[in-house]
Amino acid sequence: MANLRIVLVEPQEAGNVGAVARAMKNFGFDDLVIAGNHPQLLPVAGWWASGADDLLERARFTPTLADAIADAHLTVATTSMRGRTNPADLTPHELANEFASLGDPQTLALVFGREDSGLPNEILDRIHVAVTIPTTTHASLNLAQAVLIALYELHLAAGDATRTLPGPRKEAPPATTADFERFFTEAHQALEAIQFFKTRYPEHIMRSIRTLTFRAAPDARELSLLRATALEVVRFLERTGRVERTLPDDVSPRPPRHLVPRRQPGTGSDDAED
Ligand code: SAH
Repeated sequence: MANLRIVLVEPQEAGNVGAVARAMKNFGFDDLVIAGNHPQLLPVAGWWASGADDLLERARFTPTLADAIADAHLTVATTSMRGRTNPADLTPHELANEFASLGDPQTLALVFGREDSGLPNEILDRIHVAVTIPTTTHASLNLAQAVLIALYELHLAAGDATRTLPGPRKEAPPATTADFERFFTEAHQALEAIQFFKTRYPEHIMRSIRTLTFRAAPDARELSLLRATALEVVRFLERTGRVERTLPDDVSPRPPRHLVPRRQPGTGSDDAED
């Protein structure tokens, strides 16, 4: 992942600086730079940091913004004044996607302005991209709250980029096109058997089931389970005389043994294992 640096230009409220440190710690970022004049930070910033004092202690101070961003690969300014800047405006969500696509060891500097006047035009003219948090016409957010929202989005995107989804519980081969088609045929038969199509268009329903199933990307084992449920619907209705026998007894392939509902001896009740 790329590094993220938060740059505060001339912050005026020590409490805001502390709250920024807290938000950074909440979302896993720790490179804080304060550019230009700033108030006495301690003790107020420490109170607002609420457990993120370590981050305040490691904060760096530079005389100007130029010093703070000299080694950054991408500099992004945040502003509530949408459209005032030349570069394309992004939302924090869009910025997060950009960030996720930047590789290590690139550094993205995210720049925030003064509480009373924001970032001056000279700065906005020089930066690569501007980010605006969508709001009502009451567009100016508290400095630390603006940082919080931006970092939340970046945190989500960084998590998505590094999070690995757990694999299937048991190793199973991928499902083939033929497996899918068998399931769709059997699902169609089952829905017909319960008269699901009486008031609905089979074509529309089956299209949705296809889309949903493909999106879920079941493996061969999971698809066998789905097929078993469809087959058992029809078998149940046949057994209980509610529909004419439509399925041949040797409908194949049968789902793997462990997926076939277990029959309690003597009771005839079903108890699926999965
Ligand atoms: N009166 C100033 C307020 C600045 S608030 C102005 O309107 O510019 C302090 C900083 O918080 C801003 O410089 C900007 O970095 C950030 N900020 C506030 N509201 C924002 C918004 N809607 N979108 C993006 N950043 C915002």
